Amino acid sequence: MQEHDKFYLLGADSKELSVLVESLGEPGYRSRQLFEAIYKQRIASLDQVSTLPKELRQKMVAAGHEIGLPAIEKRFVSNDGTVRYLFKFPDGESVEAVWMPEGDGGEAGDGSEAGLEEEGAAKRGWRRATICISSQVGCAVNCQFCLTALLGQKRNLTAGEIVGQVNSVLNDHHVDLKTERINLVFMGQGEPFLNYENVMKAVRLLSENGVGVPVSRMTISTSGVVPRIYDFANEEVRPKLAISLNAPNDVVREQVMPINRKWNIESLMKAAREFPLRNREKLTFEYVVLGGVNDSVDQARELAELLRGTGAKINLIAWNPGPEVPYSTPTDEAVDAFKMALREAGIPAFIRRPRGRDIFAACGQLKRTETLTSIEGASL
Ligand code: SAH
Ligand code: SF4
Repeated sequence: MQEHDKFYLLGADSKELSVLVESLGEPGYRSRQLFEAIYKQRIASLDQVSTLPKELRQKMVAAGHEIGLPAIEKRFVSNDGTVRYLFKFPDGESVEAVWMPEGDGGEAGDGSEAGLEEEGAAKRGWRRATICISSQVGCAVNCQFCLTALLGQKRNLTAGEIVGQVNSVLNDHHVDLKTERINLVFMGQGEPFLNYENVMKAVRLLSENGVGVPVSRMTISTSGVVPRIYDFANEEVRPKLAISLNAPNDVVREQVMPINRKWNIESLMKAAREFPLRNREKLTFEYVVLGGVNDSVDQARELAELLRGTGAKINLIAWNPGPEVPYSTPTDEAVDAFKMALREAGIPAFIRRPRGRDIFAACGQLKRTETLTSIEGASL
């Protein structure tokens, strides 16, 4: 990608790197070395790529090439161990990513506790972690309960900017993906399926061939861009799918998610039912519980009917508050009763505990809030 006369290598796939290497008159194997350095070794700067001859590195830098790992502008550290990162890009736009040690990231009950090295875990203070990343600057979908929606949509992120968030956060925690377990969720700012091509390219670069996060540990969450659910179903390298349902019927869903006017619950559920699942894979629905809006036991029963036969699980997220957003957080009792009503109706339901609410890192709170005390350059 070219930006401000710089050519960023992060985001380029092996084919594009081959073309570049060829244009520099270099032997083909150099592109493999570059790919390894950028994705597997997560190197931040070209002059640290020791597998390449010094002259070549200098030549590339002189031509404006750089790796383009996004700079961590700020870190906000929560008392529950969650870290919210603010990334700033050269055009001045910024997004957030969130590190959640031991985070369930919507993956409750996925058996991730298996095969862990207790000793290493004790030393680091986390056994597994989830990284939540952004796919766009802001979001155009305009869900009424979401703080990100207030930004409107500024722009799509490039594949490199998406991969870069992950690599920077992994580097910040010195994660070795050969031995350590990381889940990745596309649940930060933006609607991933409205930036489909870049998101899918990032997925391929982040997967086993590149950075090294298995697709089986990645989840993409969509607000319900139905045609893209069908495209996604056909992807060769495909993460798991989560759908933000948030309402038991069209009346409530339209009220809280304007996108429902374009793709209603019937079309969304059709796509969900037709979605091909791999062995042991489960579709996830997310449901933001809004006090007094969608949290009654009757609504839970209506929801159970809607989900019957899908084999899906549902994650309940009590609404996280934000300034200027006119909703209320449901009581713990209401969320519990809602969960129990779903379970009694045979639907696997889980309550996702909020992470980093105190630093505005929880679901729907990502809006580049910079006013909190930040710990810049702090080592974690
Ligand atoms: N745009 C995608 C992914 C990012 S939002 C989507 O909407 O699915 C990730 C999740 O956070 C969604 O399920 C969304 O419904 C939920 N969410 C948004 N605002 C929230 C808030 N204030 N409190 C709790 N969850 C929220
Ligand atoms: Fe966008 Fe998701 Fe927020 Fe809706 S909930 S506005 S789709 S980020």
